[in-house]
Amino acid sequence: MGILMVLAALSLSAFAQTPVDDHLRAIAWPPYQDEVVKLMREYLQIDTSNPPGNELAAAEFFHRLFDQAGIPNTIYPFAPGRANIYAVVKGDGTLRPLVLLNHMDVVHADPASWRLPPFSGEILNGEMYGRGAQDMKDEGLIQAMALLIAAREHPPLKRDLIFLATADEEVNGTGSAWMLANHPELVGNAEFLITEGGSNLIRQGQGTIYGVGVAEKAPFWLRLTATGRGGHGSIPIADSAPNRLVKALARLVDWQPPIRLLPSVEQYFNVIARLQPEPLASKFRNIRKALRDPAFARSMSRNEDLNFLLRDTVSLTVLQGGPQTNVIPDTAYAELDVRVLPGEDPKALLAQLRTVLADDSIRITSADRFKPPNSSSTDTSLYRLIEQVVHQYNPQAIVAPTLGGGYTESQMYRPLGIACYGFNSLEVTPEVNATQHAANERVPVEQLRRGVKIFYEAVARAANQ
Ligand SMILES: [Zn+2]
Repeated sequence: MGILMVLAALSLSAFAQTPVDDHLRAIAWPPYQDEVVKLMREYLQIDTSNPPGNELAAAEFFHRLFDQAGIPNTIYPFAPGRANIYAVVKGDGTLRPLVLLNHMDVVHADPASWRLPPFSGEILNGEMYGRGAQDMKDEGLIQAMALLIAAREHPPLKRDLIFLATADEEVNGTGSAWMLANHPELVGNAEFLITEGGSNLIRQGQGTIYGVGVAEKAPFWLRLTATGRGGHGSIPIADSAPNRLVKALARLVDWQPPIRLLPSVEQYFNVIARLQPEPLASKFRNIRKALRDPAFARSMSRNEDLNFLLRDTVSLTVLQGGPQTNVIPDTAYAELDVRVLPGEDPKALLAQLRTVLADDSIRITSADRFKPPNSSSTDTSLYRLIEQVVHQYNPQAIVAPTLGGGYTESQMYRPLGIACYGFNSLEVTPEVNATQHAANERVPVEQLRRGVKIFYEAVARAANQ
């Protein structure tokens, strides 16, 4: 073979030819692509609005599919109408399992503000409408399809492929909590887990950015309560509870916690640098050094879209004094939506907040149950594989690790020693992405057809390396 032919052969695939390549090449995709569209519609028609959830109906839907394909599966009911479902396609056991985790519940939908009924699965202009079409029935169904295809096509598998669909992610997370409390052995040995938290945004003129979720910040909600003498509004009290509270809050809103750059965030800036004009591109490429320049650090702190990636954040959200204009109340309180980065010690942050508030008479109490944030390294075979598979289908795509501002269930599974990633294979416009938890949630049908193939390839390859 001449050198040009060798190069041509090499460029056909980023992967060495292996039994998995032979397996992938042999699959006839159109029937599976038709099936994913048909099943997506059926799944969206199951109303799992939470509360009350009624995820048992969705678990039974998956149970029927897995039974038909001969895949061992078990429904775990844990409350009336509420259940999780677990299914497994066994590998040869030489590598630890890969878990595909999704939640079956969805948030409420008000049909009045929708173009098509939210539990119809109807298609308009190539997009399928339904609550959950983005969050995350689309991903859940594609995960189930990966097992159905594996059961029919018999890929080589060094890992077990585990499917776990849970109830109640949107409200209290009791589905995953129940599984981990009662059946930790079912997932505890896994090496990797894929769930929500990834998003692949098509940007006008800039290609698609595949965001792979590697970490999330954790809510650390606080209530600040001031107490003092009450009285008639006509006779001001200088150190009344509302006065002391707003003075302390004024100090707080002028302050931000210090910048702390996580390795994954540094990597994120490095990857998105190519989308920036100079001189910003060079600064993003060397973000750690650039942030030592106080002027640049200040400009980043003013950027709402990027600032929250760089530090713990504090948002003042609730303010409550008295109910009557002519009464000085003896109590006033405020609530803060504080979000902390993985690795941060909330006690240390609390001590900083106290110093900034500079009023020891203000009581600080917790306004939620804090779950420590955590993260997964990008330096794993699965993260690199996701990059490779994405580039195989979309060579121009940018793959970047992302830090989520909100919660995902990855936080519950990482403490078991599982590397957890938010990854999905559907590319969407920002407009479609914004329909999560909003009206007209929908998924482009072509993306379902394309996405099932990409996701299956990622899973089949991940199960062998
Ligand atoms: Zn979700």
